[in-house]
Parts: sequence; C-alpha cells; structure tokens
Amino acid sequence: MKRIAVMTSGGDSAGMNAAVRAVVRGACAQGLEVLGIREGFMGLVHEHFFPMDANSVGGILHRGGTELRTFRYPDFAKPECRQPLREAFLAQGIDGLVVIGGDGSFRGAHCIDTEWNVPTVGIPATIDNDIEGTDFSIGFDTALNIAVDCVDKIRDTATSHGRIFCIEVMGRASGMLAITTGLCCGAEEVLIPEHPFDINEICTRIDAGYDRGKKHAILIIAEGAASASEIATGMRLILDREIRVAVLGHIQRGGEPTAFDRILASRLGIAAVQQLLGGKRDVMVGLIGGEIFATPLVKESPSVRVILGEYVKLQQILH
Ligand code: ADP
Repeated sequence: MKRIAVMTSGGDSAGMNAAVRAVVRGACAQGLEVLGIREGFMGLVHEHFFPMDANSVGGILHRGGTELRTFRYPDFAKPECRQPLREAFLAQGIDGLVVIGGDGSFRGAHCIDTEWNVPTVGIPATIDNDIEGTDFSIGFDTALNIAVDCVDKIRDTATSHGRIFCIEVMGRASGMLAITTGLCCGAEEVLIPEHPFDINEICTRIDAGYDRGKKHAILIIAEGAASASEIATGMRLILDREIRVAVLGHIQRGGEPTAFDRILASRLGIAAVQQLLGGKRDVMVGLIGGEIFATPLVKESPSVRVILGEYVKLQQILH
C-alpha cells in the first residue's frame, strides 16, 4: 500500500478535523502518501483530490466542522451515477480509502470497496450516535455538551417563571442525543422517535409534577419524534399553563470538539490507517467498552441500540 485517500461525508460533526489529522499523520508516519478529497462523494465527481502531508493538518485539531468540507450527494446511491466515476478514481492510484461520516456515508464507502475494489475503512462521526459497532461516534459528546449547556440556561428562566419549556434537539431517526440531554438536565419528559408517546399522559404527569412542588417542566423533544411547536400547541389545548418553545438547531453541530471527541477521533484515525495497513477492508473502526474494534462497514440488520432502552428507563425513574 502506497497511497491512501481521506474524506469527510454526510452531516458534519465536531471532531471530524481531529480524525482527518490523525489519519493523515498516522499514514505519513508509516511512509504512505495521502490524498484529501474535498466535499465527500461529490468531490469524486469533480475530482477534488489534493495531496496532504503532516503540515496540511496543522492547526485543525480543535476546530469544529470539517476543513475537507462535506456535501450531501444522493446520486452516489445510484449505481448508474457511481459507475462512470470509477476510472477517474482508480487513475489517482489510491490503494485505500478512509471515509469519515455516518451510516449513509458508510453505505457509499461499502460500494467503493466492493464495486471499485478499493479497500475502504469507515470512521463513525455523527452527532446522532446511532452507529452500531461503536459506543460513541465522533461529535456526539460535543453536541451533547452544547445541548446540556443550552438546556441548563433555559431551565434557569423556566424555574424563575414556573414555565413549561418544549426544547427541540437534533435527531431525525435517533433519540440518543435527546435522551442523554434529558438525563443530564433532569428533564421531566423526553420524546424520541423510537418510542410512542401520548400527549394526554404527558400533560397528566406534568400537572402531577407541579402538584408535587416542581417549579418548571422541561420537555426534550428529538426532531424526529415531533416538532417542539407541535407539542406545545397540543399541550396548550389541554393545560392552562405558560408553555414556551426553544429549538436548539444547528448550534448543536458547531463549535470546538470536546476533549473526549478529540481523543476518540485521534484513536479512530490512527486505527483506520492500521486496519488498511493490516489488509483489513470494508470495515469501520469503533470504540466498544473502551477498546477499538473493527466491525463490518454495513451491518446486515441494524438494530435499535440496547443502551437507548436503559437510558429511557433511567429517565423514567429520575425525572
Ligand atoms: P451520514 O453519512 O451522516 O449518514 P447521509 O445519509 O446524508 O449522511 O449520507 C452521506 C452521503 O453518502 C450521501 O449524500 C450519499 O452521497 C452517500 N450515500 C448515502 N446512502 C448511500 C447508499 N445507499 N449508497 C451509496 N451512497 C450512499
């Protein structure tokens, strides 16, 4: 193996830069040449390849977002759109590829490995933390800390006025960010896409909470479960209380990665290069019980994460 390439793809998350840095420096330390690919799978179409060395990743460890940039490029999911790109990619003399992204990006990476015969390794990076094969994905810890900081601030004002706050956090298909934010902030209710909910029961519990002496009610709502404003509108029909809405939005994605995400990204970046050098392919590297493991890039039957159920039970006891 002489030359590898690295790209970031899909939704950006804090720590992607730290992962790119680790891949590039880990590869350079092993005498490999490295090409960066800008703007994810779209960069393949436009041949956005450029040489990288240890210096090119200086000063990016602590920066949010991705310096390689990212792009959503749904056409890559169509075989007829992928096939014409193969020759230009192979002409770059790339012997291995590292794709940093979420499960969508891993499906694209799997196609490159199997259809183009280019050994490919994935590094999980998404604020959703919904990837089987790793306890944590890069960027989740940063997003969680941002959400917790925001909710703590909202809670202060909610308590002062005795208000109900419906706070929407990111997570279209995954409730991980919502449930962990709820646990960290002592939320009264957490609504996630994986579990059904009943607005009447929620209102009954909130009323009971006020009767027991609670000074506020915080609802954390994953965007995939419902919109916070919809929930607030529904609750206003049932409860005669002041209800406010806050949507945390993209603030959760940005900002400097936490120490945890920097270390995770550094470990997984180095591990990805080691996998390629060890002849492994079509795998992702992940952290399981504190150790790094390689698992198939695309799982046969992705399942809802077991830890999610445990978090839901905790929240129901601790709220
Ligand atoms: P994430 O990687 O964060 O889950 P997306 O789901 O948007 O983000 O996927 C990122 C990119 O991966 C897509 O824009 C597309 O280029 C590529 N991709 C997604 N799904 C597939 C698929 N089934 N086959 C090939 N490429 C895919």
